[in-house]
Amino acid sequence: MLVTFERAPSRRFHLVVGADGTHSAVRRLAFGAEERFVRFKDHYFAFADADASLGEVRWVTMFNTPGRMAGIYRSGNHAQAKAYFMFHSAPLEYDHKDVAEHKRLISKRFAGDRSWRIRELLGSALADPEFHFDALGQVRTGSWHNGRVALVGDSAWCASPASGAGAEPAPAGEERRLPAGLLPAPAAVDRRRIPPPAHMPGPMPLSRTRAAPRRARANTARHPGHPRRGTTRPSTGPGDSRR
Ligand SMILES: Cc1cc2nc3c(=O)[nH]c(=O)nc-3n(C[C@H](O)[C@H](O)[C@H](O)COP(=O)(O)OP(=O)(O)OC[C@H]3O[C@@H](n4cnc5c(N)ncnc54)[C@H](O)[C@@H]3O)c2cc1C
Repeated sequence: MLVTFERAPSRRFHLVVGADGTHSAVRRLAFGAEERFVRFKDHYFAFADADASLGEVRWVTMFNTPGRMAGIYRSGNHAQAKAYFMFHSAPLEYDHKDVAEHKRLISKRFAGDRSWRIRELLGSALADPEFHFDALGQVRTGSWHNGRVALVGDSAWCASPASGAGAEPAPAGEERRLPAGLLPAPAAVDRRRIPPPAHMPGPMPLSRTRAAPRRARANTARHPGHPRRGTTRPSTGPGDSRR
């Protein structure tokens, strides 16, 4: 198929794979408008640098009030920490590339709140030039392929950034949607377990993340900042792939 680029000459390819995230341009071009595939989950969120002294190493600490949440995450693998903010909202009109506007949207919800560490977290987040802001969206596509174009990862299947998982749901969704003949032979893939990283002692069970409580209360909760069944776990890794 012939592929045209914004800043390069056109080329022909046998296969095109879109691995360009939740707001995939490949999906828009080959499958249709984003609104058909990305379900708005009634929240917006921001993820940015935080003053590490505000959090504890290897812990995620969250502060909830009705309709809003702020948190800090220190992985232990990095010197820095990440602040995150989330608020409930009807769909908002804003420029997806205007970081200054994104910061204003978060400030509007959290500035003036003297609870917990919100003022300090907001201060360091707003100073981060790579401040990440987005709508909480869940990606669902009817099919991962259309002719010679295929989608992988968030472009095809994303539970939502609030799930605390991205790598795991992607193959699970793929398994359900692949035509039977393309499924790997049972001997080739043990679906119950994934091989452990080299530094881990044994097989790691596929984890599930617990749904957030439906009714937010003004409280703080701390979770260990390392993978464990039943904990939600934002990570500095995905925050690096800012869309
Ligand atoms: C705040 C936050 C916390 C998260 N926490 C976790 C977690 O704890 N655990 C977990 O497993 N998952 C987590 N996730 C989800 C995880 O980050 C994603 O599932 C994962 O990054 C998806 O990978 P991907 O390669 O499909 O897409 P992405 O990581 O989004 O990568 C897409 C890439 O395509 C590039 N791109 C987009 N458009 C174009 C274009 N037109 N031209 C060229 N390049 C383009 C982007 O710059 C980006 O580098 C989190 C996500 C967020 C936002």
